[in-house]
Amino acid sequence: MTASVDSGCSPGALLRTSQRLSSGVSDVYSSTAAPTADHLVLLNPGPVNVHDDVRAAMASPDQCHREPEAAALMTRVREKATRISGGDDRHTSVLLAGSGTAALEATFSSIVPEDGRILILDNGNYGERLRRIVEVHGIAHRRMEFGWCNPIDVAAVDRALAEDPGITHVGLVHHETSTGMLNPLREIGAVVAKHGRRLAVDAISSLGSERLDLDVDHIDWCVGTANKCLEGLPGVSFVTASRAQFEALETVPTRTFYLDLYGHFISQDRKNAPLFTPALQVLTAFEKALDKSLEESVEGRGKRYTALAEMIRAGLAERDARFLLPVEQRANSVTHVYVPHGMTYEELHDGLKAEGYVIYSTQSRLGGVFRVANMGQLDGADIAGFLAAFDRVVVEETAPEA
Ligand SMILES: *Cc1c(COP(=O)(O)O)cnc(C)c1O
Repeated sequence: MTASVDSGCSPGALLRTSQRLSSGVSDVYSSTAAPTADHLVLLNPGPVNVHDDVRAAMASPDQCHREPEAAALMTRVREKATRISGGDDRHTSVLLAGSGTAALEATFSSIVPEDGRILILDNGNYGERLRRIVEVHGIAHRRMEFGWCNPIDVAAVDRALAEDPGITHVGLVHHETSTGMLNPLREIGAVVAKHGRRLAVDAISSLGSERLDLDVDHIDWCVGTANKCLEGLPGVSFVTASRAQFEALETVPTRTFYLDLYGHFISQDRKNAPLFTPALQVLTAFEKALDKSLEESVEGRGKRYTALAEMIRAGLAERDARFLLPVEQRANSVTHVYVPHGMTYEELHDGLKAEGYVIYSTQSRLGGVFRVANMGQLDGADIAGFLAAFDRVVVEETAPEA
C-alpha cells in the first residue's frame, strides 16, 4: 500500500554566493598528487580514494581463512565496525563478503519472522531497493512512498505504525544517496521505538561521516560497507546489532543460503570461524581504514567532509550552478547539481575524466543532474583542481561553434 505519491524532483533554489573558494580546507590539508591516468580523483559516492596505508594493506601475506590469524583479524574488524556505529559490549557485527547490497540483502531477508511484516520507507532509489529485496524474498511488507527528493513524513510514519499493529519492522535508508538527502534517522528511530517495532537502517553511505548512534537513534539493525565513508576498499560489508537481536533470529525462517544472517552470526560469533571464505585481503585493508576512521572520529570526519562539500557547493554556486536539494536536506558527502545549460552529462563527465576527475551520474529518474561526492582521502587541492577543470570543460563544451 502506498501512503502518498509525489514523484519527481523540484529544482532546488538557484544559489548564488560571493563566498570565495578558500573555505579553509586547502589551508588545513596538504596537496596530494595531481591527477593522472594512474591517479584519478574519485568524486563518485564510493568506491573512494583510499589512504596509502589502506591500499598497501591489500598486499598483505597470503593466508588461510581457517587459521587462527584469520579468526583474529575477523574478530578485530567486527569489534571495530561495531564501535564506529556507537555499539558497545552488548553489540556485535557480522561481516559479509560482498558490496553493501550483500549486507542489505542478508539483513532484510533474515530479520522478519514468518508472521511479521516490514514497513519500507521509500524516498529514492535505495528505498526502492529495500522494497525490491523484501519482495524477492516473498516477505510481507508495506511501502510508504514519499517520492524522490521529498522528505520522509515522520508524522505519517507514526500514524501508520499506530494504525497497523501487524507491522513488526521498519526499513529506512539514512542517507538516500540517489538524491543526496539525509533522512531524519533520530526522529524516525524515536517513533519506531515508541511503537515497540524494530528499525533496520541502510547506513551504507552515511556510516563514518554522519551522526549515527545505535542506542540514541534506536537502531536495531545497522548495515554498513567498507568502501564509502569508512574509506576502505570494496568487497566487505557488515551488519551491526545487539547480540540479543542476532540470537533471536534462530526462529526466523532461513530464506537464503549464502546470505543467511543467523548462520553467519553463529559461525563468526560462536565458532569464531567464517561460514564461507572471507575476502581476507580486503578485510586487512578494512581494518586499517577502520583504525583511521576511529582515530579521526565520526565527528571529525563529518567536519572534514562538510568543509569539502562546502567548498564544492560554494565553488559551483559561484559558477551559477543549480542544486537539486535545499541546503538543510543535504548529507555532507554528496552534492547533486544540474548539468550546465548547453551540454550533456556525458560531455561533462568525459571532459572531466580526461582531466583526471570522475563525477557520477544519477539514477534514471533524475535526468540532467550529476553528482559530486567528497568521500575518501580528498583535500582542498583536489576540489580546487576539480573546479578549475570544470571551468575548462564547460567553456570548451558550451563555446559557440566558430
Ligand atoms: C552504495 C549504496 C548501497 C550499496 O550499493 P553497492 O553497489 O552494493 O555497494 C546501498 N545503499 C545505499 C544508500 C548506497 O549508497
